[in-house]
Amino acid sequence: MVKLSRFSSRGDVTFRRLQIVSGVKMNNLWIAALDAADRKRIEPHLKQGEIARGQMLYDAGEAVDQVWFPIKGVVSLMTILPDDKMVETAAIGREGLIGVTCGPFNARAASRAISQRDGVAAYCSAEVFGEALDASESLRLALSRFTEGLMAQVQQAAACNAQHRLDERLARWLLMLHDRAEDDRIDLTQADIAGMLGVRRATVSEVGTVLEGKGLIQRGRGWVKVLDRDGLEKASCGCYGLMRDVMKDLKLPQPQAA
Ligand SMILES: [Zn+2]
Repeated sequence: MVKLSRFSSRGDVTFRRLQIVSGVKMNNLWIAALDAADRKRIEPHLKQGEIARGQMLYDAGEAVDQVWFPIKGVVSLMTILPDDKMVETAAIGREGLIGVTCGPFNARAASRAISQRDGVAAYCSAEVFGEALDASESLRLALSRFTEGLMAQVQQAAACNAQHRLDERLARWLLMLHDRAEDDRIDLTQADIAGMLGVRRATVSEVGTVLEGKGLIQRGRGWVKVLDRDGLEKASCGCYGLMRDVMKDLKLPQPQAA
Protein backbone atom coordinates (compact mmCIF):
# COMPACT_ATOMS: atom_id res chain seq x y z
CA MET A 1 0.00 0.00 0.00
CA VAL A 2 1.53 3.32 -1.03
CA LYS A 3 1.59 5.79 1.81
CA LEU A 4 0.09 9.09 0.74
CA SER A 5 -0.14 11.03 3.96
CA ARG A 6 3.50 11.38 4.93
CA PHE A 7 3.43 15.15 4.72
CA SER A 8 2.93 17.34 7.72
CA SER A 9 2.90 21.07 8.23
CA ARG A 10 6.33 22.56 8.73
CA GLY A 11 7.32 26.22 8.78
CA ASP A 12 5.64 28.38 6.17
CA VAL A 13 5.41 25.63 3.59
CA THR A 14 1.88 24.60 2.64
CA PHE A 15 1.18 20.89 2.42
CA ARG A 16 -1.53 18.98 0.74
CA ARG A 17 -2.10 15.31 0.46
CA LEU A 18 -1.40 13.74 -2.86
CA GLN A 19 -4.70 13.11 -4.52
CA ILE A 20 -5.37 10.71 -7.31
CA VAL A 21 -6.36 12.65 -10.40
CA SER A 22 -7.79 11.32 -13.59
CA GLY A 23 -7.60 12.54 -17.16
CA VAL A 24 -3.93 13.54 -17.11
CA LYS A 25 -1.84 11.76 -19.69
CA MET A 26 1.06 9.90 -18.12
CA ASN A 27 3.98 11.53 -19.85
CA ASN A 28 7.28 11.56 -18.07
CA LEU A 29 10.18 11.82 -20.50
CA TRP A 30 12.55 9.62 -18.51
CA ILE A 31 10.05 6.76 -18.49
CA ALA A 32 9.16 7.41 -22.14
CA ALA A 33 12.85 6.96 -23.09
CA LEU A 34 13.07 3.48 -21.50
CA ASP A 35 12.71 0.40 -23.65
CA ALA A 36 9.33 -1.33 -23.67
CA ALA A 37 10.37 -4.12 -21.29
CA ASP A 38 11.61 -1.65 -18.66
CA ARG A 39 8.52 0.53 -18.99
CA LYS A 40 6.44 -2.58 -18.32
CA ARG A 41 8.33 -3.18 -15.09
CA ILE A 42 7.34 0.26 -13.76
CA GLU A 43 4.20 1.58 -15.42
CA PRO A 44 1.71 -0.97 -14.01
CA HIS A 45 2.73 0.11 -10.49
CA LEU A 46 2.39 3.86 -11.03
CA LYS A 47 -0.28 6.08 -9.57
CA GLN A 48 -0.77 9.74 -10.39
CA GLY A 49 -1.07 12.55 -7.92
CA GLU A 50 -1.16 16.30 -7.71
CA ILE A 51 1.74 18.05 -6.05
CA ALA A 52 0.97 21.46 -4.62
CA ARG A 53 3.27 24.44 -4.93
CA GLY A 54 5.45 24.55 -1.82
CA GLN A 55 4.84 20.91 -0.94
CA MET A 56 7.77 19.00 0.47
CA LEU A 57 8.17 15.52 -1.00
CA TYR A 58 10.83 14.61 1.54
CA ASP A 59 13.24 16.35 3.85
CA ALA A 60 16.99 16.02 4.26
CA GLY A 61 17.83 13.13 6.56
CA GLU A 62 14.64 11.20 5.84
CA ALA A 63 14.53 7.74 4.34
CA VAL A 64 12.82 8.17 0.99
CA ASP A 65 10.11 5.59 0.46
CA GLN A 66 8.69 6.79 -2.85
CA VAL A 67 9.95 7.67 -6.30
CA TRP A 68 8.25 10.48 -8.24
CA PHE A 69 8.18 10.97 -12.00
CA PRO A 70 6.96 14.53 -12.70
CA ILE A 71 4.50 14.96 -15.53
CA LYS A 72 3.91 18.64 -15.01
CA GLY A 73 5.72 21.10 -12.76
CA VAL A 74 9.19 21.30 -11.28
CA VAL A 75 10.71 20.11 -8.02
CA SER A 76 13.79 21.73 -6.47
CA LEU A 77 16.37 19.87 -4.43
CA MET A 78 17.43 22.18 -1.62
CA THR A 79 20.64 21.75 0.33
CA ILE A 80 20.07 22.67 3.98
CA LEU A 81 22.81 24.23 6.10
CA PRO A 82 23.11 23.75 9.88
CA ASP A 83 21.79 27.30 10.52
CA ASP A 84 18.63 26.40 8.52
CA LYS A 85 19.64 28.49 5.52
CA MET A 86 19.07 26.66 2.27
CA VAL A 87 19.87 26.98 -1.41
CA GLU A 88 18.66 25.16 -4.48
CA THR A 89 21.17 22.74 -5.99
CA ALA A 90 19.03 21.03 -8.65
CA ALA A 91 15.70 21.39 -10.45
CA ILE A 92 13.88 18.40 -11.91
CA GLY A 93 10.82 18.40 -14.15
CA ARG A 94 9.30 15.83 -16.46
CA GLU A 95 12.73 14.97 -17.88
CA GLY A 96 13.67 13.13 -14.68
CA LEU A 97 12.71 11.47 -11.44
CA ILE A 98 12.90 12.32 -7.75
CA GLY A 99 13.66 10.15 -4.74
CA VAL A 100 16.35 7.97 -6.22
CA THR A 101 18.35 7.62 -3.04
CA CYS A 102 16.80 4.19 -2.54
CA GLY A 103 19.39 1.52 -3.21
CA PRO A 104 21.51 -1.16 -1.63
CA PHE A 105 22.68 1.13 1.17
CA ASN A 106 19.23 2.52 1.97
CA ALA A 107 20.65 6.04 1.94
CA ARG A 108 18.81 8.92 3.54
CA ALA A 109 18.04 12.03 1.54
CA ALA A 110 20.88 14.53 1.41
CA SER A 111 18.54 17.35 0.39
CA ARG A 112 14.98 18.63 0.77
CA ALA A 113 12.69 18.21 -2.25
CA ILE A 114 10.15 21.02 -2.67
CA SER A 115 7.67 21.51 -5.48
CA GLN A 116 8.03 24.91 -7.15
CA ARG A 117 4.62 24.92 -8.71
CA ASP A 118 1.33 23.09 -8.73
CA GLY A 119 2.05 20.01 -10.75
CA VAL A 120 1.27 16.37 -11.41
CA ALA A 121 3.52 13.39 -10.85
CA ALA A 122 3.36 9.65 -11.28
CA TYR A 123 4.81 7.78 -8.35
CA CYS A 124 5.50 4.33 -6.99
CA SER A 125 7.07 2.95 -3.85
CA ALA A 126 10.85 2.87 -3.60
CA GLU A 127 10.50 -0.87 -2.96
CA VAL A 128 8.79 -1.48 -6.29
CA PHE A 129 11.34 0.69 -8.09
CA GLY A 130 14.19 -1.16 -6.35
CA GLU A 131 12.79 -4.53 -7.44
CA ALA A 132 12.57 -3.30 -11.04
CA LEU A 133 16.21 -2.17 -10.83
CA ASP A 134 17.28 -5.54 -9.45
CA ALA A 135 15.63 -7.26 -12.39
CA SER A 136 17.02 -5.15 -15.22
CA GLU A 137 20.54 -4.07 -16.10
CA SER A 138 19.29 -1.66 -18.75
CA LEU A 139 17.11 0.06 -16.15
CA ARG A 140 20.10 0.35 -13.81
CA LEU A 141 22.09 1.94 -16.64
CA ALA A 142 19.27 4.40 -17.39
CA LEU A 143 19.19 5.40 -13.74
CA SER A 144 23.00 5.73 -13.63
CA ARG A 145 22.88 8.05 -16.62
CA PHE A 146 20.27 10.19 -14.93
CA THR A 147 22.12 10.33 -11.60
CA GLU A 148 25.33 11.25 -13.46
CA GLY A 149 23.49 14.18 -15.02
CA LEU A 150 22.00 15.12 -11.66
CA MET A 151 25.42 14.98 -10.02
CA ALA A 152 26.79 17.29 -12.72
CA GLN A 153 23.91 19.69 -12.13
CA VAL A 154 24.49 19.70 -8.35
CA GLN A 155 28.24 20.25 -8.75
CA GLN A 156 27.72 23.07 -11.24
CA ALA A 157 25.16 24.71 -8.96
CA ALA A 158 27.54 24.50 -5.99
CA ALA A 159 30.29 26.29 -7.92
CA CYS A 160 27.80 28.78 -9.38
CA ASN A 161 26.32 29.61 -5.97
CA ALA A 162 29.81 30.21 -4.58
CA GLN A 163 31.37 32.17 -7.43
CA HIS A 164 28.91 33.87 -9.73
CA ARG A 165 27.15 37.21 -9.40
CA LEU A 166 23.58 37.14 -8.19
CA ASP A 167 22.16 38.69 -11.38
CA GLU A 168 23.81 35.88 -13.40
CA ARG A 169 22.54 33.25 -10.98
CA LEU A 170 19.03 34.67 -11.07
CA ALA A 171 19.08 34.59 -14.87
CA ARG A 172 20.29 30.96 -14.83
CA TRP A 173 17.62 29.94 -12.34
CA LEU A 174 14.83 31.65 -14.28
CA LEU A 175 15.97 29.88 -17.46
CA MET A 176 15.86 26.51 -15.73
CA LEU A 177 12.36 27.24 -14.46
CA HIS A 178 11.27 28.62 -17.84
CA ASP A 179 12.43 25.37 -19.50
CA ARG A 180 9.98 23.47 -17.32
CA ALA A 181 7.11 25.99 -17.38
CA GLU A 182 4.07 25.92 -19.65
CA ASP A 183 4.03 29.66 -20.03
CA ASP A 184 6.39 32.66 -20.19
CA ARG A 185 4.65 33.92 -17.08
CA ILE A 186 5.78 32.00 -14.01
CA ASP A 187 4.09 32.27 -10.62
CA LEU A 188 6.85 33.35 -8.26
CA THR A 189 7.10 35.67 -5.29
CA GLN A 190 10.22 37.56 -4.22
CA ALA A 191 10.24 35.27 -1.19
CA ASP A 192 10.27 32.16 -3.45
CA ILE A 193 13.23 33.51 -5.40
CA ALA A 194 15.11 34.58 -2.28
CA GLY A 195 14.54 31.14 -0.74
CA MET A 196 15.82 29.30 -3.80
CA LEU A 197 18.91 31.45 -4.23
CA GLY A 198 19.64 31.64 -0.51
CA VAL A 199 19.67 35.44 -0.33
CA ARG A 200 17.61 38.24 1.25
CA ARG A 201 14.42 39.46 -0.39
CA ALA A 202 15.71 43.01 -0.70
CA THR A 203 18.71 41.74 -2.64
CA VAL A 204 16.46 39.78 -5.01
CA SER A 205 14.41 42.91 -5.60
CA GLU A 206 17.53 44.92 -6.53
CA VAL A 207 18.81 42.29 -8.92
CA GLY A 208 15.34 41.77 -10.43
CA THR A 209 15.24 45.48 -11.16
CA VAL A 210 18.50 45.16 -13.11
CA LEU A 211 17.14 42.32 -15.32
CA GLU A 212 13.85 44.17 -15.74
CA GLY A 213 15.71 47.36 -16.68
CA LYS A 214 17.39 45.46 -19.53
CA GLY A 215 13.98 44.36 -20.82
CA LEU A 216 14.68 40.67 -20.11
CA ILE A 217 11.87 40.05 -17.63
CA GLN A 218 8.77 41.74 -16.32
CA ARG A 219 7.72 41.40 -12.69
CA GLY A 220 4.32 41.63 -11.09
CA ARG A 221 2.84 40.78 -7.73
CA GLY A 222 3.58 37.06 -7.37
CA TRP A 223 4.80 36.47 -10.92
CA VAL A 224 7.74 36.92 -13.27
CA LYS A 225 7.41 36.93 -17.06
CA VAL A 226 10.29 36.07 -19.37
CA LEU A 227 10.28 38.68 -22.16
CA ASP A 228 13.59 38.02 -23.88
CA ARG A 229 14.77 34.43 -23.56
CA ASP A 230 17.93 34.89 -25.69
CA GLY A 231 18.84 38.01 -23.75
CA LEU A 232 18.35 36.16 -20.48
CA GLU A 233 20.73 33.43 -21.67
CA LYS A 234 23.35 36.07 -22.50
CA ALA A 235 22.85 37.67 -19.08
CA SER A 236 23.27 34.35 -17.25
CA CYS A 237 26.59 32.85 -16.28
CA GLY A 238 27.85 30.04 -18.51
CA CYS A 239 26.54 27.44 -16.03
CA TYR A 240 23.15 27.19 -17.70
CA GLY A 241 24.70 26.25 -21.07
CA LEU A 242 27.15 23.82 -19.42
CA MET A 243 24.33 21.99 -17.64
CA ARG A 244 22.36 21.75 -20.87
CA ASP A 245 25.42 20.36 -22.70
CA VAL A 246 25.96 17.68 -20.04
CA MET A 247 22.36 16.49 -20.50
CA LYS A 248 22.94 16.32 -24.25
CA ASP A 249 26.25 14.42 -23.88
CA LEU A 250 24.57 11.87 -21.63
CA LYS A 251 21.69 11.58 -24.14
CA LEU A 252 19.22 12.46 -21.43
CA PRO A 253 15.84 14.02 -22.25
CA GLN A 254 16.05 17.81 -22.27
CA PRO A 255 13.89 19.67 -19.76
CA GLN A 256 10.64 20.83 -21.27
CA ALA A 257 7.10 21.57 -20.25
CA ALA A 258 4.18 19.23 -20.84
ZN1 LIG B 1 26.96 30.16 -12.70
